[in-house]
Amino acid sequence: NDEHDTKSEEDSKIAENALSVPYSALCKTFEEIEATTKRLKITEYLTKFFRTVLLLSPKSMIHCVYLCLNKICPEYEGKELGIGESILMKAVANATGRSVANIKNDCAEIGDLGSVAEASKKKQMTFGIAKSLSVQKVFSTLKEISAIVGSSSQAKKIEKINSLLVNCKGSETKFLIRSLEGKLRIGLAEKTVLIAIAHASVLSDPECKTWSKDKVEKELELGAAIIKQVYCELPNYDKIINAIADYGIKSLHDHCKLTPGIPLKPMLAHPTKSLTEVLDRFENIQFTCEYKYDGERAQVHRLEDGTVTIYSRNSENLSAKYPDIMALIPEVIAPGVTSFVLDCEAVAWDIKKKCILPFQVLSTRKRKDVAIEDIQVSVCLFAFDILYLNGQPLITDTLRNRREKLKSSFVEKEGKFAFAKSQEASSVDAIQTFLDESVTGNCEGLMVKTMDEGSSYEPSVRSRNWLKVKKDYINGIGDSLDLVVMGGYIGRGKRTGGYGGYLLACYDDDTEEYQSICKIGTGFTEEQLKQHTDFLDQHKMDTPPSYYKYSDTPNIRPDVWFKPVQVWEVKAADLSISPVHLAGRGLVDPSKGISLRFPRFIRIRDDKSPEQATNAEQVAVMYRAQNLNSASGSNQFEDD
Ligand code: ATP
Repeated sequence: NDEHDTKSEEDSKIAENALSVPYSALCKTFEEIEATTKRLKITEYLTKFFRTVLLLSPKSMIHCVYLCLNKICPEYEGKELGIGESILMKAVANATGRSVANIKNDCAEIGDLGSVAEASKKKQMTFGIAKSLSVQKVFSTLKEISAIVGSSSQAKKIEKINSLLVNCKGSETKFLIRSLEGKLRIGLAEKTVLIAIAHASVLSDPECKTWSKDKVEKELELGAAIIKQVYCELPNYDKIINAIADYGIKSLHDHCKLTPGIPLKPMLAHPTKSLTEVLDRFENIQFTCEYKYDGERAQVHRLEDGTVTIYSRNSENLSAKYPDIMALIPEVIAPGVTSFVLDCEAVAWDIKKKCILPFQVLSTRKRKDVAIEDIQVSVCLFAFDILYLNGQPLITDTLRNRREKLKSSFVEKEGKFAFAKSQEASSVDAIQTFLDESVTGNCEGLMVKTMDEGSSYEPSVRSRNWLKVKKDYINGIGDSLDLVVMGGYIGRGKRTGGYGGYLLACYDDDTEEYQSICKIGTGFTEEQLKQHTDFLDQHKMDTPPSYYKYSDTPNIRPDVWFKPVQVWEVKAADLSISPVHLAGRGLVDPSKGISLRFPRFIRIRDDKSPEQATNAEQVAVMYRAQNLNSASGSNQFEDD
């Protein structure tokens, strides 16, 4: 029996190896991708790799996809790798026999711990034979590392990291370290990963060999469009990849639909600069104006079993921040309602005066583990859309129908739950009056939405069927920008001891670069300046990473560099072509970028990650709109 057991163990090991994807194959693909900036080439390399995986080891596809994306689970589950630099340096030191001090020095010079680790490993004398790593092994170990908490977690993490590092060869070391840092930095955007999954799936169809070149092109395009749309509705790779394996990409949408419990990417609005622009856009189209509430977007999900979850604009779970809303939901559901997804804005509410309070009041609320009895700032939830009701997705319905369903499925509760205030104003004067009313009521302006034709809910799309009209932007640039803090300038005079100004950047999601857009020194209160200094000092970097793009002139180079950790909302007088800043370089001028004139700090955007900052293309659109008063719709995963 013993002999038999050993044999079957061996057999299963052999079977497991036969089915495993070598980590070296994935890293080889990463090397190819890193060596080019051409999006089509990147898609081609990744498609080729995914096709092989689908052919030889389809079960490993999900692990490969997650490693390409630097994720260990769906984004909304909120588990990230991002192992601290000091732990990683210790692990590299342990695994290569070098001192932490030497590694630190090399890092300051080269700017990338992954490359330092690879070089250190190369120099090292090795004894014994390293085992080959599989993608599955690397993925499962990364997952284990992310789950380590509590006492001696640092030592345990280092031990696990070492168990991988000792078996890494060549570029595997570099990519493993970068994965552990939480950023691959090879210029592989998420939309490219999605397209490559679709292309690999289309090309793996046995029929494909009989298709004409034209037909292949069309099928590839169709596959990419399907997966991008499905992902915005159901951002869960496990479900999508399983459905592709079981049913093929063409019927993906029949099997992967909006599901309560999985936050969809919210629909976004287009900025406008004038009310006549609104009327021009919606000529002969039925539209509605709604108050644009100034709080925090809240996507409220209820499953059939009664579980309620609240998600942010960024798909972060906000349930622990809003126990009051969690308790309120059962009280505002009409009889017969079982499951739903609502799109709402949570707004600070003055219970005594029965009115909306400004966003600044809401921002004083604790973000985590709020106890209901400690709540100082009350919130009222303003619902403006319903996307799912009693087992049925509603996103392809008209807004008119959705609004009707919203109103018949929920009941208002004063100061706690209300439907967004709306009016079918159709002349400039009527819209202006409603806009003034909204601003007097502490709202930001209006959202103007189509009601019938073309009024489906478009997840993730910055749609021209939703226009935002913010009062104070009408004569400015139409919208504020959300920018990432790259560095700080040491303060003088009254600002001695902190930073007097900062260098800000937009994000280019094609190249994964932060591009400098302006220096900022106004709009801050004394308290905010101190708060920024305290926070950003915890995120200093010795050298700017290669993905920070700026002009290296004394006037621009900050005194201190920060990691990309915080997004600030900024207003500006206008945008101009810049001799020094690099935002959107090549988009409106062949060699120059765009910068902001007279930027002013408005607030921290906790609900946006640095990669969700205003992107280079949006900056270019805003620049052009200054003169042309026109802009086009775009989807987060739209074509390159
Ligand atoms: P964007 O989402 O356009 O990148 P942003 O997050 O800065 O930018 P805003 O410019 O403030 O958003 O405008 C859109 C936001 O307005 C929505 O995300 C939502 O939180 C809020 N909002 C308030 N009232 C409404 C409403 N009636 N309909 C839709 N959104 C509303």
